[in-house]
Amino acid sequence: MIYSFPLGSLSCVVISDGQPKPPWEPPLAEFFTPESGVPSEELCAVTHGRSSLALGYNCLCVRTPDGLVLLDTGLGKRFFGYGPQIEPLVGVLTDGLATAGYGAADVAAVVFTHLHQDHSRGATWRGESVFPTASAYAHAAEVAYWSSAAATGPHLESARQAIRLFGERLHRFRHDEEILPNVRTVESAGHTPGHTAILLESRGERLLCTGDSFYDPLQLTHPDWCTPWDLDATRSARSRRRLLAWAADENLLVHAYHLPFPGLGTVKRAGAAFTWSPLAPEAPEAPEAPEAPEATASTRSNRKLAAAGRRRASRCPGGDGCRNGDMSDKRQV
Ligand SMILES: [Zn+2]
Repeated sequence: MIYSFPLGSLSCVVISDGQPKPPWEPPLAEFFTPESGVPSEELCAVTHGRSSLALGYNCLCVRTPDGLVLLDTGLGKRFFGYGPQIEPLVGVLTDGLATAGYGAADVAAVVFTHLHQDHSRGATWRGESVFPTASAYAHAAEVAYWSSAAATGPHLESARQAIRLFGERLHRFRHDEEILPNVRTVESAGHTPGHTAILLESRGERLLCTGDSFYDPLQLTHPDWCTPWDLDATRSARSRRRLLAWAADENLLVHAYHLPFPGLGTVKRAGAAFTWSPLAPEAPEAPEAPEAPEATASTRSNRKLAAAGRRRASRCPGGDGCRNGDMSDKRQV
């Protein structure tokens, strides 16, 4: 599945690496646990019988003046997390790229929001770089953490594989840097030490890619709810609140990696919390499990998309790693 839309002069395509459907959706109770700060009774009170997450894997491909940029790369085949049953449903990023008219060798740069396997393994699962001519970008703290003895858990192998395979082509960035034309890093650490949101901006239109800042709209209505995958829950919640407030107050178009395809929407304030308004609700349905996904092109000019991303102000949300919030003088195309 792909979903194409313009952002200023940039051509963007959300490319799904997979959208598992029941029974392969992960249980809500695995993501929101008492240990991660979500009492079971509170979860039950707001889920209204829903027991699973509609977890998508929405990679974003952007044609910039410096070439094709891919934000996160999906799971790849042979995903470690759920076993072989789910494999036909994921790892279809390169199929979607082909539907969009691109080959893997056309990708000039891969930008990682972080190095968890469901974001990095799509670039490495073959044991060699899936994007043979691409450079890679990851936060310096992310690379340092996964390279250190402190790193453990199921994401370690794929993180180190990405670091190893990209080698000298892996660029370490800081927060609040324009790492590529129209591509700026935004501090959102906590989920991992170098977790980074990405702001795309062109001709006054902006798109905020939030990575794993939230998995489900429940984390907008309950922004302090964390998951077991947040390495630093306190910092993760703080980053989430800051990003959501920024997105709401400036009516940013938001790309949410894990929300149902295509994961595009806007955020509104609701008291001390937020709500999610998905855009492009006419997006094509994902295929039924266990059939392999069938690529479906969807190219639309959606006025709501452009309106949501249009600049209303020119401040970035600041944060621990944000040295300069003024983005008004940055290059546009
Ligand atoms: Zn993820």
